[in-house]
Amino acid sequence: MLNLDLAPRKRIGLVAHDNKKQDLIEWARYNRGMLEEHDLVATGTTGLMLKRELDLPVTLLQSGPLGGDLQVGAMIADGSIDFLVFFWDPLEPQPHDTDVKSLLRIAVVWNIPVACDRASADFMISSPLMTGSYERRVPDYTAHNERDVPSD
Ligand code: PGA
Repeated sequence: MLNLDLAPRKRIGLVAHDNKKQDLIEWARYNRGMLEEHDLVATGTTGLMLKRELDLPVTLLQSGPLGGDLQVGAMIADGSIDFLVFFWDPLEPQPHDTDVKSLLRIAVVWNIPVACDRASADFMISSPLMTGSYERRVPDYTAHNERDVPSD
């Protein structure tokens, strides 16, 4: 395991499927005071709605189905997102279901906290760890990276 120091100002990724956007907006409005202490990154439509609602800077990626979920996943993999709020819709299939699964998977690969519903998001945003520094333990993937692969 390796330890990564997370500063008090965290980089939060935010994604909500269409039927969950209202939920995320209400949650974000209620927690605006906390969110303004962090850097926000979001998929296109979610981000535009948050920006309008909160009047805070939000880095906008592509819309989720157009690659935004994958961009969030890539940012997790390169260490530029520390915390993910991902309100995915459990009742409707999405055209980008494979990307949804990839995003949830990569968050676990890198031991990123993920809130998939409002209750989890409430618990996480009010944790003292949100405002302090935190040593995130990251699995050591050296053995994976240095494994023998068959070659000619
Ligand atoms: P959106 O993408 O914020 O652009 O709507 C969210 C998603 O469906 O992943």
